[in-house]
Amino acid sequence: MELNFIDIHTHTTKSRDNLIQIVNLDLKSPCPEQGYYSYGIHPWALDNVDFQIEEALSLLEARLQSPNVLALGEAGLDKMHKASFERQIELFERQIELSEALKKPMILHDVRSHNEIITLRKKHKAHQPWIVHGFSGTEQDVQQLIGQGIYLSVDESLLHSERKIYKSFKFIDLDYLFFETDMSEIGVETIYEAAANLLEMDLSDLQIRIFANFARLFRL
Ligand SMILES: [Zn+2]
Repeated sequence: MELNFIDIHTHTTKSRDNLIQIVNLDLKSPCPEQGYYSYGIHPWALDNVDFQIEEALSLLEARLQSPNVLALGEAGLDKMHKASFERQIELFERQIELSEALKKPMILHDVRSHNEIITLRKKHKAHQPWIVHGFSGTEQDVQQLIGQGIYLSVDESLLHSERKIYKSFKFIDLDYLFFETDMSEIGVETIYEAAANLLEMDLSDLQIRIFANFARLFRL
């Protein structure tokens, strides 16, 4: 019986017993020998005037070769951001191709772009699992994304009863659920506890379910 906590997306390494994390690294940082990591090109990278798409993609391809790099991410689309949406789509599509070619699942940054993400998943006939990180949508968004086999990762918003996710959380199929701390200082355990309370299930049962998702998705 596995009783680990999984933090599917974070930017800080916390070494703790029973904690498995996928730490998101900057493309410029080499991959450490211990632990699990993700590398990707965030749509916000397009803001940088020095940004070179081909250069960034070849560095990304090299980083993804390491077996410790479990996923490609963050990549995705952000309708609230100033970078041209067309260029965001181009960058995202190139990363979908890499994810499929190298068989690395993707961790997605999705801001008001569910429809486009689903359209592109179908267009590319993508088989790799995708995880929308920091998911905060409605019940309808839950059904739409999970209906396409897309996983949802929930962050500390779950601790706030006024947030949308607090209401829509119970509609997430447990087979498609992850938790994450992203930029937050709090421990992922706290999010698990809040989730177990909302679902009226034992924390240990929830840990077993999420670990099963992790093992299945990353074939570990
Ligand atoms: Zn992040």
